Amino acid sequence: MSNNRLDSAGAMDPEARIFLAGHQGMVGAAILRRLEADGYSRLIVKSRGELDLTDQQVVRRFFDDEKPDQVILAAARVGGIGANIRFPADFIYQNLMIEANVIHEAFRSGVRRLLFLGSSCIYPRDASQPMTEDALLAGPLEPTNESYAVAKVAGIKLCEAYNLQHGTDFRSVMPTNLYGPNDNYDPDYSHVVPALIRRFHEARIAGDPAVTVWGSGEPQREFLHVDDMAAAALHVMNLAPETWAAATRPRLSHINVGSGEEVTIREMAELVKAAVGYAGELRFDHTRPDGVPRKALDGSLLRRLGWQPSWKLPAGLAAAYRNYLEKLDG
Ligand code: GDP
Repeated sequence: MSNNRLDSAGAMDPEARIFLAGHQGMVGAAILRRLEADGYSRLIVKSRGELDLTDQQVVRRFFDDEKPDQVILAAARVGGIGANIRFPADFIYQNLMIEANVIHEAFRSGVRRLLFLGSSCIYPRDASQPMTEDALLAGPLEPTNESYAVAKVAGIKLCEAYNLQHGTDFRSVMPTNLYGPNDNYDPDYSHVVPALIRRFHEARIAGDPAVTVWGSGEPQREFLHVDDMAAAALHVMNLAPETWAAATRPRLSHINVGSGEEVTIREMAELVKAAVGYAGELRFDHTRPDGVPRKALDGSLLRRLGWQPSWKLPAGLAAAYRNYLEKLDG
């Protein structure tokens, strides 16, 4: 029985039964749109209510029943700096459980290729910038999201260990900071872009004279539109095994997905302000944490493998704001 449905070039066959874990999240939803647009018609998706990925027995039964050919693991407990500081136990526990269950059960049921989604926060706080893949585990992590980062490092190492011991082809992608449709707009626990979209929008409607931005405005972040991330994920998933192995030799199992679009938080606030059409002032709340001073990925390895982003920040933010307005109307 082939439980592997890869074409002769090593890409996923359109008939492959692909289990996309986390299709209701921002990244998973973007990957689902992209898979459907690319003609994959036998996708397996389950809501959290239908399939609790933190429950080992449930996940085992699911894999035994469904026997997917490939797996894309985009399910995770995620959040911005506020959520990471408030819920460190949830972030480490839930992510470790999801990863251990899905990666192990995928292996057990004969899945050869799996894609694990990580994060740029896996790299040390003081890594030289932009960060290359080999900065992993080279130093201490940023404390504000250490729990999440440790869980994501464990996910990469799970993939790597199964590859080493069992000859699987489990690949990991590390996205830079993402934004786009289906983001979480919670004012306390979201990431910076959706938080600012909502805050500037509400201030414009209310006619408030100023909007508060957390921290000093000086941290630098790199931002990538989630649709570009989805394209990158499928690009990596579809690379021929020899190409992937050569790129990640000797034993790396992860690759960066960077955009090269780096701005300070102050510049990002100005960009969101323009996208929303807000005319008031910016204020900086220095009692809020800045997090890591600079976080940018060296994305050159993936570019050499043929992927590049297509969105630019102003247009991407305008599209993200339109999506926010649609959600408000809906
Ligand atoms: P990080 O990249 O893991 O630090 O994630 P975030 O997206 O949560 O934060 C990025 C930067 O934006 C940090 O320096 C925050 O202090 C800053 N920031 C400014 N205003 C906000 C806000 O309203 N919400 C969040 N989450 N971050 C903000």
